[in-house]
Amino acid sequence: MKVLGSLSEAMYTIGTAGHVDHGKSTLIKALTGIDPDRLPEEKAREMTIDLGFAWLRLPSSREVSIVDVPGHEGFIHNMLAGVAGIDLALLVVAADEGVMAQTREHVAILDLLELSHGVVAITKKDLVDEETLELVRLEVEELLAGTSLAGSPVVVCSAATGEGLPELVDALERELAQTPPRRDIGRPRLPIDRVFTLPGLGTVVTGTLTDGSLEVGEEVEVVPGGLRARIRGIHSHGRAVERAMPGRRTALNLPGLEVEAIERGMVVTRPNWLVPTTAVDVRLRVVPYLRRPLRHNMGVIFHAGTARVSGRLILLDRDEARAGEEAWAQLRLSRPVAVVRGDRYILRDPNDTLGGGTIVDVHAPRHRRFHLPTLVRLERLASGPPQQRVLELMGPHGHITWGELIAQVAMAEMEARQVVEGLIALGQVVALPPQGLEADTMLATSQALERWWRVAAEALGHYHRQWPLRRGMPREELRSRLHLPPKAFSALISLWEGEGKVRLTGEAVALSSHRPQLVGEQRRQADLFLEALRQRPYAPPSAGALDPELLSYLEEEGLIVRVAPDVAFAREAYQEMVDKVVAALQVQGRITLAQVRDMLGTSRKYAQALLEHMDRCHITMRVGDERVLRRRD
Ligand code: GDP
Repeated sequence: MKVLGSLSEAMYTIGTAGHVDHGKSTLIKALTGIDPDRLPEEKAREMTIDLGFAWLRLPSSREVSIVDVPGHEGFIHNMLAGVAGIDLALLVVAADEGVMAQTREHVAILDLLELSHGVVAITKKDLVDEETLELVRLEVEELLAGTSLAGSPVVVCSAATGEGLPELVDALERELAQTPPRRDIGRPRLPIDRVFTLPGLGTVVTGTLTDGSLEVGEEVEVVPGGLRARIRGIHSHGRAVERAMPGRRTALNLPGLEVEAIERGMVVTRPNWLVPTTAVDVRLRVVPYLRRPLRHNMGVIFHAGTARVSGRLILLDRDEARAGEEAWAQLRLSRPVAVVRGDRYILRDPNDTLGGGTIVDVHAPRHRRFHLPTLVRLERLASGPPQQRVLELMGPHGHITWGELIAQVAMAEMEARQVVEGLIALGQVVALPPQGLEADTMLATSQALERWWRVAAEALGHYHRQWPLRRGMPREELRSRLHLPPKAFSALISLWEGEGKVRLTGEAVALSSHRPQLVGEQRRQADLFLEALRQRPYAPPSAGALDPELLSYLEEEGLIVRVAPDVAFAREAYQEMVDKVVAALQVQGRITLAQVRDMLGTSRKYAQALLEHMDRCHITMRVGDERVLRRRD
């Protein structure tokens, strides 16, 4: 048989669904030869770290993971493991009992998760006659009608006799061929469903990997909690592998971690991007057969990934949500969970599944109920075109870093890059700095730019009024007013400089209209001081008595050179002195302080201040008691 490489590379996970005792485990064992019910401890003794899950190599050579955990809670966890949960549902209905309560609930959950690929196995055919089989078949079709699984192929079989099993494998194969492979968006997450230790290995966690791949040796973080570890080994389908691929059942050996510190519901991922949350905004759909409505503020159990947390349901657009209805809601959770936008969730109470849907926003603020702008924003986040989703993520302030955007947007990095580049080309978004998107690149809407400019223009205007003689505000001061990280701030003021809004001189930022100017009394004082400098150019009066603002102004304007706190020379005088010292050094090679003093006809104080300044300017250099010229390379 010819096997296409791409077929065997795409990874899929099949999850079983159906009422207890309807024959799920027996069917999996008959299909795979692996008994999924065997106790984890029993397998542990064989020193394998891939526990309790089966896998199947289909005739096309496609290998699929099969998740079949007895018990109701386990079912929900596995439905939800990963963003898209399982890829395909194998709904098992016993021919002798037909559709039962859990069959109905599982189908409702699959529908809430919008799982659209499924195969129905009506098993235990050996126990019933043809007529009963037909009735069960009708019952199943009726159950699936109107759900995401409507029209799924139905195969009648028996695990006891083996009848219908080849047809079941064919049906799985055909459905999988139509199932899009898991997306690899370069952001691996492994929601932990089991954690245990093995002798000689240490802590092992298992789960279904989603959204990206993980490699042996890679550093990972466990969220919530933020514990770090390095992956020492990966097992998948009973084999040690170097790299775990999205869509696969995966076991990670994380020897550095204490098993007690890890629990089901936590997520293993790359460090530093996934921030757990206790409030999420969601689109909620109520299961269609629920007898009583969901009420605002009621207590619920929230399931997402493998996490299970109690919380409160805040209905944002109504007081009650009835069977089959859809609503906007916020869930306030009793403990943090590691989820991202676009993840699916289920709400239950201790007995029943109540509803579920998609997480639309994480780290959600408290909202006013029945508040139209909030509802419009949620609508856009949930179903707007990609550009709109990106703009919404930029929030009311209209800015976000590229790193934050990637962590929060439910899109592959490539796709997000295209969307952002499109917005930049349209002039709706500006990247600061504009070259290349890096984690700390700030993306800002034109509104955010306008707002920053208003803040900056006001702060600068105020500064210029307060310090009219200064060239401008220190950059750092303006940056802290704008609350911007250094790189984005530099890019922003360069942008403003290019637009002629500001002038940059050294560390000072000024409105381009700003001209430091002397007026009235200041001008008179400055003139007097400059005149006094001219009178005694090499031994001027102390600068210490002059207003420091005025002194700085004269210095910035290049009228004086300050060589020490209280010693300033007129610029021309300073230049003459420097030229004389340099000329002397060129002739004699070295010069003492006393020689400079005498040559300039000044006092030791001025000669020393001058020479120290020349040293600082790297014109001269001190050697013992003498100065020499610094060699210029
Ligand atoms: P699960 O709870 O859905 O996993 O159900 P199990 O696989 O544990 O099966 C429940 C019971 O049904 C067991 O006693 C099985 O031996 C029996 N069983 C499963 N499949 C068949 C079948 O095809 N024919 C018959 N006669 N019995 C079956």
